Amino acid sequence: MKIGILGGGQLARMMVQQCKMLNFDFVVLDPESHCPANQVGAEQIIGSYKNKEDIEKISKCVDVMTYDIEHINTEKLKELNIPVRPSPQILDVIKDKLLQKELLKKNNIPTSNFVNSIEEGIINFNYPFVQKLRKGGYDGKGVIIIKNEKDLKEAFKEDYFIEEMVNINKELAVIVAQDINGNMEVYPVVEMVFDERTNMCNTVVAPAQINNDLMEKAKEIGLKTIKALGNGAVGIFAIEMFLTNDNEILVNEIAPRPHNSAHFTLDGCITSQFEQHIRAIAGFPLGSPELIMPTVMVNIIGEGNGNSKVLGLKEVLKIEGVKVHLYGKKYVKPARKMGHVNIIDKDINSAINKAEIVKKTLKVIGCQK
Ligand code: ADP
Repeated sequence: MKIGILGGGQLARMMVQQCKMLNFDFVVLDPESHCPANQVGAEQIIGSYKNKEDIEKISKCVDVMTYDIEHINTEKLKELNIPVRPSPQILDVIKDKLLQKELLKKNNIPTSNFVNSIEEGIINFNYPFVQKLRKGGYDGKGVIIIKNEKDLKEAFKEDYFIEEMVNINKELAVIVAQDINGNMEVYPVVEMVFDERTNMCNTVVAPAQINNDLMEKAKEIGLKTIKALGNGAVGIFAIEMFLTNDNEILVNEIAPRPHNSAHFTLDGCITSQFEQHIRAIAGFPLGSPELIMPTVMVNIIGEGNGNSKVLGLKEVLKIEGVKVHLYGKKYVKPARKMGHVNIIDKDINSAINKAEIVKKTLKVIGCQK
C-alpha cells in the first residue's frame, strides 16, 4: 500500500520510520528538497501542500492520503478520488479555533468561555483575558494575553476571538485513535510542561502526575471530543486540556495528526502514535496504546542560526534509558524543533532527573560554516 503525506517534516519522517516495517511505501509533498521524511526512505514530490496542482500530482500515485500539518488546501482535498484521512471537512473545523470552540460547546464538552469580539470580552470577562487568532497560530504564536486597556493597542484587529483566562494548574494531553470502523483507543494521559520564555512545550511526562479519577475523566472527555468530530475522524488526534486550580478539566484545542505530546509513545508504549495513525488511515486494526514504562520526553530546540551541529550526543547516550530522536534538519533557526529525547525509567522521578541532565547536555546549535 502506498501512503501519501502532505508535509515531509519530522512527523512524516517518524510515520515512515515506524511503518516501513509493515512494508508500506510513502510519498511526501514538501517544498524543501531532501526533507526529513525523504531522508528515511519516502519518495518526495517537491512542491507546496497549498498548491492544487501539486496535491493533484501526489494523489495520482498513492492509495490514501494524510497530512503532517494543518495549514493545507482543504478545498482541493475534497475533490480527490482517494480517501483523505482525517477528512478535509474535519480539518476545516480544526483549522479554525473558533469553529473548534463552537463544536465543543455544542457537544457539551467542557472548554473555557469565549466570545467573538474584544468589546464582548470587556463586558463579559475581567482582565486579563486571552485573544486568539482563529487560524494559523502554533506554539503560542497567535495568542495574546490582554492584561489591561493599554494592551488593547497590541491586540489583533481581525479574525480572532476572546477566551476567558483559565487558572491553569497543569496542561494535559489525551491522545485518541479512531479506525475506519469507529473503534477507538486512548493513550495514558500526559502532562505538558512549557518553557515560560519561549511559550513552547519543552517536556512531557507520561503518565501525568494526577490522581486516577482525573486521569479517567480526562480520557472520557478525550473520547467524547473525537466522537463529536464524527466518523471522518480517522487517525490519531491529540486533545490538549487544562487542569484548573479547581480540578476542572477543560479542552483547549484538538490536533488532527501525530502530536509532540505523544512522541513519548515511540519508546514508552506498545504502539507508537505514528504506527497507530498509519494503521488507522490505511484501514488496519489499531494496536495497544498501553504504557510499557514511565517516560519523560524532552524537546531539543535549535539554538542560534546556521548549519546544524549536534553537541553532547555521546554524553547523553551513556545515560540508561535515554533514546535520542534527531530529525535530520540541516539548518537551525531559533525555536525550530530539531529532535527529541525519550527517557524511560521504572521510576518517574528518576526519569525527570535524567531529563534535566539531557536538557543541559544535548544541544543542536547553528554554525556559520
Ligand atoms: P497554540 O495553538 O499556538 O499552541 P494554544 O491555544 O494552545 O495556542 O495556547 C498556547 C498557550 O497559551 C497554552 O498552552 C496555555 O499555556 C496558554 N493559554 C491558552 N489559552 C488560555 C486560556 N484561556 N487561559 C489561560 N492560558 C491560556
